Amino acid sequence: MEAIRIERVSQLKPKPEDEGALQFGKRFTDHMFLMDYKGDKGWHNPRIVPYAPIEMDPAATCLHYGQLIFEGLKAYRTKEGKIVMFRPEKNMERLNLSGDRLCIPPIDEEFMVGAIADLVRVEEGWVPGSEGTSLYIRPFVISTDAFLGVHPSDSYLLIVILSPVGPYYKGGLSPVRIYVEDNYVRAVRGGTGFTKCAGNYAASLRSQVEAEAQGYSQVLWLDGVEHKYVEEVGAMNVFFVLGDEVVTPALNGSILGGITRDSVLTLLRDWGYKVSERKVSMEELAEGYKNGSFKEAFGTGTAAVISPIGELKWGDVEMKLSDGKIGDLSQKLYDELSGIQRCEREDRFGWVYSVI
Ligand SMILES: *Cc1c(COP(=O)(O)O)cnc(C)c1O
Repeated sequence: MEAIRIERVSQLKPKPEDEGALQFGKRFTDHMFLMDYKGDKGWHNPRIVPYAPIEMDPAATCLHYGQLIFEGLKAYRTKEGKIVMFRPEKNMERLNLSGDRLCIPPIDEEFMVGAIADLVRVEEGWVPGSEGTSLYIRPFVISTDAFLGVHPSDSYLLIVILSPVGPYYKGGLSPVRIYVEDNYVRAVRGGTGFTKCAGNYAASLRSQVEAEAQGYSQVLWLDGVEHKYVEEVGAMNVFFVLGDEVVTPALNGSILGGITRDSVLTLLRDWGYKVSERKVSMEELAEGYKNGSFKEAFGTGTAAVISPIGELKWGDVEMKLSDGKIGDLSQKLYDELSGIQRCEREDRFGWVYSVI
């Protein structure tokens, strides 16, 4: 791969004044990374350039048939002022997994981790340092052939943009209310549920809007065939504490393999918990709630790290968990994972990637 060309802006944007008040994904930094793909040339022309609108042919296939994949990861500023990322190579591996499903050509993963680190170094001044803040990194790939036909594109554009974000929970972790969706489905086996492709999220909006109108913050998705087994919560993986077992749905093709999920599984096994990746039905949860063995539930994802679930509503069944407080395991996992991500706890698994 050629060296990355860097073109700097002449006028920097003002930096956020109140880092703690930054909302998710609303502000963007001064520069972005771009790289082109063309069938006969492969990936080429990697560059860091001023953040700006991109020009595209209105017939570009991504706008019509949705060949669009993305990733989400974060850079953190540590107490010593260093900048680190969390398992970025896993995000690049998953970008290629998504790409393969959508016929998008593979990208050199190691090169991309380095390119993202270069971009973060250029934007060093944008990595916020106050409690709970981070720099959200959004790599994505779009198909750019100007062609109205359902066919893989021969040209693509890879873009990385950066957005400084505030703490997910202002004033600490807080439990969320979840609506169990038994009408709409997010994904089916054989489909694209295991990928981060744009269409999955477009298809989830209707359900999310209806759940919000009823006062719930997220939906819990059930399997697309029987509407019986748990899949995920919103755009997070989900874990349940059932008696002495910690359970998360097994990756089955329609569930997104979260990097936070994988990290949580690793920590739990290392701590000696009894952990299962298996099918878990709503009936089993409702039964466990009745007999007192279902004690705690939480979502996992890059944005919130750990999101404790305070309530699950499934038809007429209302399950209130952990007395509306943060469950012990949720808190313990949050402290450990966010501690590792900010270099305040020992990185025993080699998850931290040093940028500066
Ligand atoms: C991104 C995402 C997750 C969480 O993945 P992480 O790698 O932990 O951030 C879970 N489910 C869906 C549907 C997602 O899009």
